[in-house]
Amino acid sequence: GRELAPRLANRTEDQVKAVQIVFQNPDSALNRSHSIRHILSRALKRLGGLTGKALDTRLEELVRSVRLTDRHLAVKPRQLSGGLKQRVAIARAFAGEPRIVVCDEPTSALDVSVQAAILNLLADLQSKQDVSYIFISHDLGVVRYLSDKIAVLYLGRIMEFGPSEAVFSGPHHPYTEALLSAVPKLDRTESARIRLDGEIPSAANPPTGCVFHTRCPRKIGAICETQEPELIEAEPGHTIRCHIPFEELARLQKPTAVEPA
Ligand code: SF4
Repeated sequence: GRELAPRLANRTEDQVKAVQIVFQNPDSALNRSHSIRHILSRALKRLGGLTGKALDTRLEELVRSVRLTDRHLAVKPRQLSGGLKQRVAIARAFAGEPRIVVCDEPTSALDVSVQAAILNLLADLQSKQDVSYIFISHDLGVVRYLSDKIAVLYLGRIMEFGPSEAVFSGPHHPYTEALLSAVPKLDRTESARIRLDGEIPSAANPPTGCVFHTRCPRKIGAICETQEPELIEAEPGHTIRCHIPFEELARLQKPTAVEPA
């Protein structure tokens, strides 16, 4: 998250319009000294090229689309709760009818009680507008709810990529397997949680070979330390970066192979 802003700073004006970002913390994204009306009107003018009556009409629509009301337009960000501020940030991102919205952990700074409402809002906006999300999150439950395709990253490398269903149903990359073992199951069945030992290495100075080898519970030997595995297509559209063949991962990860908790 923290690394995202500088990397996006050099975009052209058209890219700025096409790609918008909703940050983790709406406080740092909204100008504190302006009213919500000013913040959204400015975005509609700059990103949507609107003025006068057209701007007022669109402002009203935009405010309704994120389930805010006129009452919220007169106030400044600090007078709103975290969830309401995030709605303003989302409205601003949609002001220019973007093609892609990068959602960088958009609910992780919010109270658990309002997280679901914001996710529902994002899902709703996506189904109504012609927009794609790049949704960055550590919360696999949230990722599953919103994503069509999932990329699992470790130290900035894609370890697994595929349709959401395939990534969740497996076979999994050993890192994905460990992440999924920590997610509570809806059917309340228990499975052994895989704990990853050791510190996360620095992305600037990653381990040799497979970057996950210093913590991988399924490491198979020296090859993991010396050779970086390729991203291999295990099944159509589903790729995994691991020296263990796909069929072997499937065998190792069968539910019967998991020790009870
Ligand atoms: S290549 Fe080796 S260390 Fe890397 S994920 Fe596969 S088994 Fe683990």
